[in-house]
Amino acid sequence: MPVIDIDSLHKILELEQKQGYSDSAVIGGLDKFIRQWSDKLIAVITDRSLLTKFQKLHLRDRKYASLTVKERQAWVKNVLEFADELAHGKAIKPAPIRKINVGSQKSPVKPKTPLITSNLSLDASITAIKGISTNLSARFGKLGVKTIRDLLYFFPSRHLDYSKMKTVSQLTEGQEETIVANVWEAKITMPGGRRSTEVIVGDETGNVRAVWFNNPYLAKTLVPNMKIVLSGRVRLFNGRFVFESPEWEPLEEGDLIHTGRLVPVYPLTEGLHQRQVRKLIKGAVDLWAGQVPDFLPHDVKEHCHLIELPRAIAQAHYPDSADLQDKARVRLAFDELFLLQLGALSKKRDWQESQPGTPIQINQKLLETFLQSLPFKFTPAQLKVLQEILGDMQKPVAMSRLLQGEVGSGKTVVATAALLMAAADGYQTALMAPTEILAEQHFATIHKLLSATGNLQEEADHLYTYSGILPKSLTIALLIGATSAKTKRELHRLSANGEIDIVIGTHALIQQEVGFQRLGFVVVDEQHRFGVAQRSTLRQKGTNPHALAMTATPIPRTLALTLYGDLDLSVIDELPPGRQLIKTKWLRPNQRESAYNFIRKEIASGHQAFIICPLIEESETIQARAAIAEYEFLSQNVFHNLRVGLLHGRMASRDKEKAIQQFHDKELDILVSTPVIEVGIDVPNATVMMVESADRFGLSQLHQFRGRVGRGPAQSYCILLSQNPSDVGQERLAIIETVYNGFKLAEEDLRLRGPGEFFGTRQSGLPDLRMAKLSDVALLELARKEAERLFTEDRHLKNPQHALLVKELARVWTTQIEELS
Ligand code: ADP
Ligand code: MG
Repeated sequence: MPVIDIDSLHKILELEQKQGYSDSAVIGGLDKFIRQWSDKLIAVITDRSLLTKFQKLHLRDRKYASLTVKERQAWVKNVLEFADELAHGKAIKPAPIRKINVGSQKSPVKPKTPLITSNLSLDASITAIKGISTNLSARFGKLGVKTIRDLLYFFPSRHLDYSKMKTVSQLTEGQEETIVANVWEAKITMPGGRRSTEVIVGDETGNVRAVWFNNPYLAKTLVPNMKIVLSGRVRLFNGRFVFESPEWEPLEEGDLIHTGRLVPVYPLTEGLHQRQVRKLIKGAVDLWAGQVPDFLPHDVKEHCHLIELPRAIAQAHYPDSADLQDKARVRLAFDELFLLQLGALSKKRDWQESQPGTPIQINQKLLETFLQSLPFKFTPAQLKVLQEILGDMQKPVAMSRLLQGEVGSGKTVVATAALLMAAADGYQTALMAPTEILAEQHFATIHKLLSATGNLQEEADHLYTYSGILPKSLTIALLIGATSAKTKRELHRLSANGEIDIVIGTHALIQQEVGFQRLGFVVVDEQHRFGVAQRSTLRQKGTNPHALAMTATPIPRTLALTLYGDLDLSVIDELPPGRQLIKTKWLRPNQRESAYNFIRKEIASGHQAFIICPLIEESETIQARAAIAEYEFLSQNVFHNLRVGLLHGRMASRDKEKAIQQFHDKELDILVSTPVIEVGIDVPNATVMMVESADRFGLSQLHQFRGRVGRGPAQSYCILLSQNPSDVGQERLAIIETVYNGFKLAEEDLRLRGPGEFFGTRQSGLPDLRMAKLSDVALLELARKEAERLFTEDRHLKNPQHALLVKELARVWTTQIEELS
């Protein structure tokens, strides 16, 4: 027990007594000394009764400085007594069995585990642990547990509450119960032909039977007169109580592991057994938890009311109470989120410092002209985020910002204003969209906006040039896969010569052939659809250009902060005025005909309808096939006298474009489509969005679909059909019927589906969070705030007090967290 120096505590307290309790025994005051001392102590106390005494002393939160002399006197005396007990091991005597406080909330007071530590490093392989063979370690390896540290951080998925001790006479049928009892008799029986162990145990209030099916070996272990603790569910059999295959362990020296407490349940793999893992982990926790360096700075722990790390680790496995279990989880979850934030901030700092960004001058006059030329006024939310964006662009540090806003909230217009400002200062800019349809639409939108600001001067294939906006002409181009090779070559040439100011496109933009002369600003639309690499490839085409990512998937703030901790967030949280609520109705299967009738009626009054085909997971090809079948059925039967079009991801982009164009130009009444087209399409005359198998979609996605209609003046509708929704499916449908706020829906989505599904599998890039839940909004914001505070105080984490933290940060970020953005 090398770390705890009881002697020096003793000396200092005696000195304090001698000096008349004047708080002068140590420089800096007794409070600080005691706190540091007790922080170390808490890490190694494993004995519960000592811990209780320790807590009663309030060593860590008592303000000695504020006590009266008399109070100080009493306090010093208590602490000295406690120190003596520690030093001489007075609390070590085993508690006799009858002292167990049967029926109380407490677990039996156990004999003391000696305060020991090991010489092994936390990074040593678990094979160094006694009892872990190479074979066993391979099984742990499957769970990602390789080192002693991994083992300490291998937390249980839940706990069984066996903490409430009962007597035999207090047992209740059907409940999980725990008793301390004496074994009277143990024998092998054959219930239903299975060799099993049956024992009779009892205490002073009565006897009860326990049976372990298929386990005849226990009969040898459980010998008469042995004292054991039994935990398990109590059943009634032939009018008598019986424990069926309960957990058990001998009541002997050492802490209870399987019974009589909150008992951990570990997620296992083949060849690992619960009891074995519990025992190994208990041993590891007792030996090594105290050695885990607590890397959190003291003030952070204090601000956030967090318990010490060694204690948190121990309590996460073997909690002394539900309250401590919770405190342990909070501490460990905080660590995960805090390190995540700190890592993101460090990354952002490094990135900003490694390459200076290019400050862009804002031409206020041109900005005014642009805003004036719009057929509407910016909403306050649009103005606010535009200011945030332009503010960043003027700095000599590259912008790295995420713009969130619902479909139709006006992100594209805001981005256009920013693109124009960069172009006006002589920079080239790029806007990248995930699909050709979206890219084309952006091209068309920006063309419309710029035509209103200036005059179209020249038009070529995929290219527009305007006069009257800049002193020179302004050129925009569209670069997508479908662009002809000849045009592409021409566009590449123009771009490389710096003759295109705004390039709009898809992945085609990040092809190697695409070059820029002075790319100063890039916008990535629906950014979560692009991989990390794709986004940074675009960035690398300039010298550290300002970057704006946009998303119409309203990511709950928690998730956004976690995923994109190194981005600044801007949110357009209001829709332009006059937007209607889209009446949303979930129809039962027997109302399908009425849905079709409703669509006929809307079309008869001059409107149009979308029909989204069911979500089919397999592949885009199969989805396309399903869409074709649905299209044929609808166009030949249900709507045989209407003009029905088809859109799916497998169509040639020319055909896709044509279908959209026709629908847009009212040459089609109905567009049957796969879910791939969820984003971006703007057809103001469409008033019905019908979604098949709506229960299969997430709320955010349904909301996106719904956003496709209601873009014109006419009242619009969203009809949801579903054959046989699950409970969660039904809940989703009920929510989407009444909730219209995209962010609220995203939160609900996250709650119902979990973060993995929320983003689609594997795409999420979510770090490995064991203790933190993404629904821990408050904790996440706390972690974010603390990380930012720490960063303003010590931007490069050079302060010696932060040395452990820096080490931990490096460890976690290199081993666990993949590049996030
Ligand atoms: P987003 O990109 O967020 O989906 P857009 O920028 O495409 O939104 O805008 C959606 C529609 O709303 C477009 O037709 C656009 O012209 C219009 N719009 C944008 N901002 C406003 C506003 N402040 N007032 C009225 N209409 C607006
Ligand atoms: Mg958009």
